[in-house]
Amino acid sequence: MNILVCIKQVPDIEKIKVDSAKKVMIMEGVPLIVNQYDTYALETAVRIKDADPSTKVVVVTMGSAQTKDALKSCLSVGADKAYMVSDEAFNNSDTLAASVVLGAAAKAIEAREGAAFDMIMCGKQAADGDTGHVGPQLAEFLNYPQITSAMELTVEGGKIKANCQSDDGVNVIAAELPVVVTMSQTPYEPRYASVKTKMAANRAEIPVLTAADLGIDAARVGAGGSPTKEIREYVPERKKGGVKIEEETAEESVAKLVALLSDAGVL
Ligand SMILES: Cc1cc2nc3c(=O)[nH]c(=O)nc-3n(C[C@H](O)[C@H](O)[C@H](O)COP(=O)(O)OP(=O)(O)OC[C@H]3O[C@@H](n4cnc5c(N)ncnc54)[C@H](O)[C@@H]3O)c2cc1C
Repeated sequence: MNILVCIKQVPDIEKIKVDSAKKVMIMEGVPLIVNQYDTYALETAVRIKDADPSTKVVVVTMGSAQTKDALKSCLSVGADKAYMVSDEAFNNSDTLAASVVLGAAAKAIEAREGAAFDMIMCGKQAADGDTGHVGPQLAEFLNYPQITSAMELTVEGGKIKANCQSDDGVNVIAAELPVVVTMSQTPYEPRYASVKTKMAANRAEIPVLTAADLGIDAARVGAGGSPTKEIREYVPERKKGGVKIEEETAEESVAKLVALLSDAGVL
């Protein structure tokens, strides 16, 4: 089985601070990590490889030179091969254009590796952009079925069955391979790298694929291929005020709430 895991390098959002005077995020010094949901996708792929050692797990990211660190950390926890997709033509790509690039990258990597991917995995959303667009758009471009927000999955006889997170509980979804799967949090934790695997990953060659390597139509990527326009960036105002009702009993609290709403003319 051949699996491609799309990983995105994101800032560690727990370390981001906000300059409340300028109303901007302070990104300086914030460490870059592999998006958490992508680590669940990679761990799931590597577990499939643990069970069937003929499985090959390839990771890919679209980004600048610094994303090589994220790819190396994926190699250190079980990925067999890593590709970086990078070109100035991809700057200012929105999620649609980014999905076009990743779809073309999947096809170009298949040609280089000499085998088609049975499963393309993504995280369900990235911690920074947070749209959750890329996985479903990738499935659309590749014309593959998609399974979103999977928590656990099994692959057998050319079919995948996944338990997927939903607002109402868990949906069990099945599909034929090849498929695009986006991963939610898994019941198991991603594994850690050892010193040995980290050193091997540091030595690994990571091929860089450009727009020319992907044979991509320049009009479909970058600003020209991006229908989304960013109009404004701002930190939302914190809500002020509010009333905390903490009477002796629940009944008294309800009575007070009703009285306050009534005084305010809401009831
Ligand atoms: C107008 C506009 C201009 C932009 N310009 C730039 C720019 O110049 N540079 C820039 O870096 N971003 C830019 N972005 C942001 C960029 O489009 C998004 O970061 C990207 O499309 C992914 O969207 P997301 O973060 O919402 O990911 P989601 O859709 O939430 O991610 C879901 C999953 O898709 C996969 N994935 C997402 N992104 C990547 C990736 N890059 N490589 C591999 N896998 C991935 C991961 O598995 C991830 O968990 C721009 C966005 C807009 C709207």
